[in-house]
Amino acid sequence: MVRAKKRFGQNFLKDRTILEQIIKAIPDDDYQLVEIGAGLGDLTKYLLVSNGVVAFEIDLDLCNYLNSKFSEELENGKLELFCKDVIAVWREELYSEKYKIVANLPYYIATNIIFKALQDRNCKSITAMVQKEVADKFVAKVGEKNFSMLSVVAQSAGKVVKVVDVPPTAFQPMPKVYSAVVQFRKEIETISHHFISFLQIAFKQPRKTLLKNLSQHYERDRLETLFFKLNLNLSIRPHQVDTPIYHQIYQTLEDREIGRE
Ligand code: SAH
Repeated sequence: MVRAKKRFGQNFLKDRTILEQIIKAIPDDDYQLVEIGAGLGDLTKYLLVSNGVVAFEIDLDLCNYLNSKFSEELENGKLELFCKDVIAVWREELYSEKYKIVANLPYYIATNIIFKALQDRNCKSITAMVQKEVADKFVAKVGEKNFSMLSVVAQSAGKVVKVVDVPPTAFQPMPKVYSAVVQFRKEIETISHHFISFLQIAFKQPRKTLLKNLSQHYERDRLETLFFKLNLNLSIRPHQVDTPIYHQIYQTLEDREIGRE
């Protein structure tokens, strides 16, 4: 038996009901399925029932295991397996055609992977297991305490919903935290990294005012004029400003669109 390695964030999803809920949530389109971190192949097996799969797995022990478990699917081309660190091989695009991600993501790089996927023009949707706390940030609504840079990035790229909360008992070994499946359906091709940097400034000190955060980088007078034009109170906090307003602020200050580099 292959032993789980902590450093690769290995928590294998064993709960059938949750596996089935993930499968049911996958958008019904013809884009290529890409799985990141195939692990012991439990999710992969489900995915292969009706689709071809391109999978990435960093752990060579698991790759050997997957190679024998799926020898037939690898042989007939239903499964393509890359024994690679997905972050190391990810250029602008992870895959050369339009694709969708379905994955139980390693928690230590889940946010990083989702940001890369939201910026990747070929990626059309992501259905992924992440830490519940992170999922709650992605789906938070304006005004809620959790409304953060992650919410604005995700909601700028398209629609994001939580599919289901998942308790530690669904995994082997059990993680210390709760998890949740989130789904992103992109409505624009990419999110500019300039826009992401701008949001990092806006949310730098989340409890301070937005004006204070932005004035570390932009002229105060200019900001006050803009706030007045947009009807924003000067003492408004970053979590109280909705996504379309962030787009307007960014476009005015930087003279760029959120989907253009
Ligand atoms: N999909 C499996 C495993 C999920 S655990 C299941 O649901 O049971 C996360 C998996 O991601 C592990 O197999 C781990 O080895 C792999 N992984 C971790 N970091 C990775 C990386 N940088 N690139 C590719 N795979 C990675």
